[in-house]
Amino acid sequence: MTGSLDSDVARRRTFAIISHPDAGKTTLTEKLLLFGGAIQMAGAVKARGEQRRAHSDWMKVERERGISVASSVMTFDYAERTFNLLDTPGHEDFSEDTYRVLTAVDSAVMVIDAAKGIEEQTRKLFEVCRLRDVPIMTFINKMDRETRDPFDLLDEIEQTLALDVTPGSWPIGMGKNFLGVYDLFNDRLVLMGRSKGEMPDEGESCSGLDDPKLDRILPDWAVKQLREEVEMARGLCPEFDPEAYRAGHMTPVFFGSAVNNFGVREMLQALGQVAPPPRPQPTADRLVDPLEDKVTGVIFKIQANMDPKHRDRIAFMRLCSGHFKRGMKLKHVRSGKLVNMHNPVMFLARDRELAEEAFAGDIIGVPNHGNLRIGDALTEGEDLRFTGIPSFAPELLQKVRPEDPLKAKHLGRALEQLAEEGAARVFKPRFGSDWIVGVVGSLQFDVLADRIRTEYDVPVRFEQTTLYTARWVTCDDAIVFKKFQDGNNQALAEDHDGDVVFLARNAWHLERTAEDFPAVKFHKTKEHA
Ligand code: GDP
Repeated sequence: MTGSLDSDVARRRTFAIISHPDAGKTTLTEKLLLFGGAIQMAGAVKARGEQRRAHSDWMKVERERGISVASSVMTFDYAERTFNLLDTPGHEDFSEDTYRVLTAVDSAVMVIDAAKGIEEQTRKLFEVCRLRDVPIMTFINKMDRETRDPFDLLDEIEQTLALDVTPGSWPIGMGKNFLGVYDLFNDRLVLMGRSKGEMPDEGESCSGLDDPKLDRILPDWAVKQLREEVEMARGLCPEFDPEAYRAGHMTPVFFGSAVNNFGVREMLQALGQVAPPPRPQPTADRLVDPLEDKVTGVIFKIQANMDPKHRDRIAFMRLCSGHFKRGMKLKHVRSGKLVNMHNPVMFLARDRELAEEAFAGDIIGVPNHGNLRIGDALTEGEDLRFTGIPSFAPELLQKVRPEDPLKAKHLGRALEQLAEEGAARVFKPRFGSDWIVGVVGSLQFDVLADRIRTEYDVPVRFEQTTLYTARWVTCDDAIVFKKFQDGNNQALAEDHDGDVVFLARNAWHLERTAEDFPAVKFHKTKEHA
């Protein structure tokens, strides 16, 4: 271990924003980047938001894909911290990708629309964070509009998410009368200017809520209300406890208006001060500590390159330990081969830049031709297998056929690559010549058809099946497993890794087969090996 590694790791904050569509994630991202000085990038985020609004759902996904490599990871510095903000795809049909991204962060920011409270998608994403005890900071957005009562909102977070809440700032008024916030962590009064896009001023430092300064600056009603409400909030909510926050049991709540760049800085400061630095990462055998000298990393996401003429992809690797330097050769544990890291990508601005060095918590993009897969480990030699990156059993299964039967082989290759990328599950049934494609959200079929046509030049048709669901099957007893396979050959398929999958016709089919073969395990998720 070196002292410098220690401080390089300690300054890093790798996080994602979770929210329901329209709550303000794009706007908040843009403002966060402004603080980091990554202004070009902010423009790109904004453009994406606008494009999204201007097009249909399908186009929206398509557009997102177009710009998503550039904005998948946004790295910026602020107040002696290096932040890595990982983008989660907005559309719910991409939830699987979102889950994987959430395995690569150390904390998350939950954005809530102050008029709407906790919405469906927020709750789902929160549950994913909870599975891994990811600490959550909450930003209650759109305080410049008519909102729900702040106490109501705090209560709702506490009740629906079963999370202790504590205000990090308190709003003064709302809607047309929203004057600003009182920063409870640093005892500052921050008033909101109404001009969009400007940096807010630093606010007035106060000696607590009794400071007579408040009476001079704020109108009477506002001071009175602020003092009363904060007193009440302090009576109702537990004090901020950094340990409880880092364990994922408590969320500090900040109020603001992202579009006015207001309240954002207070939250970003808190993120820098109390959010956890890179956490140790679990492997099959041991925890990898971020301060270990040797470089290790895990691939959690693969993205096809945007240029359809080039079949290369970017594998997103989260560094788990060590001091990474460009030009290193790392061992690709699954194949045993060495990978030359001569052109890793960092995401510092709109344009990609070569990553000269990186530390635990950083994300680097590794261009490759399909040899890297989700869940793969890269190390300086150790045979590690990182755990915790799941692959979900698809809920929707369709057959896919090439329009031109002579292109079946091409289709097979395309499907295999898309499966490796994690864009879909692809199953080759033991009987019949069709491929079965499984996805989590139906929109994915449209995107896949389009990609297979444009990137692989194979026009295809997706067709309904009567299949109910897919389960990965394993069995410790080879003889029983063979008997199971012989008896169920019609319902079996292989995925792109060659693992055996059971395709159930209906719930009863699945249940009965499981009863008939108690030694066989039916898995809903498969950990990427
Ligand atoms: P996303 O879908 O979560 O990424 O949401 P966006 O950032 O695209 O915001 C959705 C809409 O809410 C846009 O029209 C934004 O301009 C608007 N918006 C975002 N933040 C605020 C805010 O603080 N106040 C108001 N009034 N509107 C906001």
